[in-house]
Amino acid sequence: MADDQLTQILKAKFGFSSFRPGQEETLRTVMDGQPTLAVLPTGSGKSLLFQLPAYLISDLILVVSPLISLMQDQVDRLRSQGDFKVAILNSDLPYQDRRQLLATLDQYHFLFTSPESLVNPQVQSRLKTISIGLFVVDEAHCVSQWGPDFRPEYLLLKQMWTLRPKRLLMLTATATPDVQQDIIDKLGLKNSTVKIVSRGVDRPNIFLAVQKLADEDRKRGELLRLLRQLKTSGVVYFSSRKLASEMASFIQQKSGLKIAAYHAGQSRRERFIIQQQFMQGQLDVIFATSAFGMGIDKSNLRFVIHYHLPGSLEAYWQEIGRAGRDGKAAIAILLYAPGDESLPAMLMSHELPTADQVQQWQRRPRQPQIMGPNGEVVAFYLKHGWSLN
Ligand code: ADP
Ligand code: MG
Repeated sequence: MADDQLTQILKAKFGFSSFRPGQEETLRTVMDGQPTLAVLPTGSGKSLLFQLPAYLISDLILVVSPLISLMQDQVDRLRSQGDFKVAILNSDLPYQDRRQLLATLDQYHFLFTSPESLVNPQVQSRLKTISIGLFVVDEAHCVSQWGPDFRPEYLLLKQMWTLRPKRLLMLTATATPDVQQDIIDKLGLKNSTVKIVSRGVDRPNIFLAVQKLADEDRKRGELLRLLRQLKTSGVVYFSSRKLASEMASFIQQKSGLKIAAYHAGQSRRERFIIQQQFMQGQLDVIFATSAFGMGIDKSNLRFVIHYHLPGSLEAYWQEIGRAGRDGKAAIAILLYAPGDESLPAMLMSHELPTADQVQQWQRRPRQPQIMGPNGEVVAFYLKHGWSLN
C-alpha cells in the first residue's frame, strides 16, 4: 500500500484533512493483516477504522456491536454516505427478511450484527460460504468481566475464528490493562500476535474539580453561580429527566443564559434540533441525562458539570471527555451533596427485571424486552446458564 493512499482516501471520501491520533497506525496494521486492538477515547473516530478499509477491501466487512441502537446509528451513517450496500441482522429482523438477507448476503459490503445473531447456526453456515475481509468487534470491552458493560454473549465470539476472517479489528475506549488482557484472552487470541494501539486516557487540558455542598439548596445555588461565571458552552449532567427539564427552565430564568434540556424522553426530532442549535452556538448550555453524548462532537465545549454522580467511573470519564476537544483549557466539576451516592444504586435497581418479569419471559422467551433495559443480559444467562467462562 502506498504511503499516502490512506490519507488520500481520508480526504477524498471523508473530507478530513488529517488522521486523529492512533487512526493511521491502526489502519496500517489492520490492512497488513495483523489482529489489532485499538484503545482510543470516545469520540476519537473509531468508526472510521472500519469505514475507510471498505474502499480497499472488496470482501464483506462484518461488524459486531452490542446494541441495536449503535448498529442503527452506524448503518444510518454509512447509508447517508451512499457508497456501500449495508445490512443489519439482529433479533428484531422478521424471519422472512432474515432469510432474504442471508440469501443475498454476497451483494453486501457491510453486515452489522449482534453476537447472539452471529452464532445462530443458519447464519454461521451461510457466512462460511462468504469471504470475510474484515471482522470488527466494536465495544470490545463488552467481552470483559472486569468492565461495567460486560455482555456475556460476547463470550460466544470466540467461535468466530471458524469463519476465517482475513483481518481482525477490536475497538474499545476502555483502557485498563486488565480489560485489554481480558479481551485478548476471552476472544481466544495470543498476546504475541495482537497489536495494541492505545492512545492515552489522560486529558491534561481538562481541570478536574469536586465541590461538596451541604444540601440540595446550596447545590442548586452553586450551579447557578458557576453558570453565571462560565456562561458558554457546556453540558450539565443530571441523572433524572424531570430534574434536567425543571432545572433548565429555573436556571434559564435566573441567569439569562440560553439553556435547553436533552433526554431520552424527547422525540428524536426534538433532540436533533437541540443538538443542532447547540452545535451552532445558539444554545449556551445543555442540561442533559446520559442520553446526551453518543456521536456528539462539539470541539469547543468549555465545561462539563455533574449535578449528580455519574453511573460509573467509566461514564464519568466519557462524559467529561467531551470537554476541550480543541485542546484548549476546559473544566469538569462534580457537585456533591450528602446522600447523592444512593441515587445511582436506586436507578440501577430499576433496570433489573422483577421476578414476575422473569417468569413472564420464561413463558414467552422470544421477547427479552419484557424484562426491561437489562433484559438481554438476563435472558442470555437464563438460556446459556452461568457455566460460560
Ligand atoms: P468513537 O466511536 O471513537 O467514539 P466516532 O467514530 O463516532 O467515535 O467518531 C466521532 C467523530 O469524529 C465523528 O463525527 C467522525 O466523523 C469524526 N472523525 C473521525 N475521524 C476524524 C478525523 N480524522 N478528522 C476529523 N474528524 C474525524
Ligand atoms: Mg464507536
